[in-house]
Amino acid sequence: MESKVKLTINGVSCEASEGDSVIQTILKNDIEVPTLCYHKAMRPIGACKLCAVEVEGKGGRPMTMLSCILKVREGLAIRTDTELVGKARSSAMQRLLAMAPQSPSLLELARKFDIETGPVPDGCVRCRLCIRVCNEVVGASALKMEKRDAGNFVVPAENQCIGCGTCASICPTGAIRLEDKDGTRTISIRDEMIGIHPLLRCESCGRYFASQKFITHVSELTTSHPDIKEHHLYCPVCAKLLSTRVKTAGRFRKM
Ligand code: SF4
Repeated sequence: MESKVKLTINGVSCEASEGDSVIQTILKNDIEVPTLCYHKAMRPIGACKLCAVEVEGKGGRPMTMLSCILKVREGLAIRTDTELVGKARSSAMQRLLAMAPQSPSLLELARKFDIETGPVPDGCVRCRLCIRVCNEVVGASALKMEKRDAGNFVVPAENQCIGCGTCASICPTGAIRLEDKDGTRTISIRDEMIGIHPLLRCESCGRYFASQKFITHVSELTTSHPDIKEHHLYCPVCAKLLSTRVKTAGRFRKM
């Protein structure tokens, strides 16, 4: 005859068959526990680690164990709803999301069981090069770190971007994107706009090359050169080709 054991789940007494796993007993008692790798037709291996439950460890200290591996025993007290269980589920979920960041079923499971997922991967490695270059070199201070629910994120500071594109060039992972299209430059991270800028054309070749804000910013920072009599708006290529130095060098070559 099958022998039975008595245990409690979240303070409620129940009975289980000796040899059953804790997860079997939990599910039989209509309590939900998150799991990905448990299947009743196969031996459990505790791979996803989402089914952690709290039990009393040595000296009465609470500890978590995987309910798919743990067997029921007389007097066992299990909790599925404690802070410790929440932490264990959260670290298991973050480990899983690092391997499958876009998995809709993982994200759905996290939502259903209210599991902390940590920052959603956004391609940014938090090196802060973009923030530092915008602040220390460009002088626009258009980016900052911001603490949000899921962690720290690089975010735009409102209306500060001048559209130079330095952050996108220096970003080592391509998390900051620059797109020049139809005379407009867009700088963005994730789905957040850092800046959107109409571009000016080069007076020599006609190509779009810089935003008005960037040109104004540079002219405010630089003093006028005594040799320059007229002001032209040239792209870097034309500026180089048409510079006095190149013309002079050409004259010397002809001699
Ligand atoms: S494009 Fe905007 S955010 Fe990026 S470095 Fe230039 S001013 Fe800063």
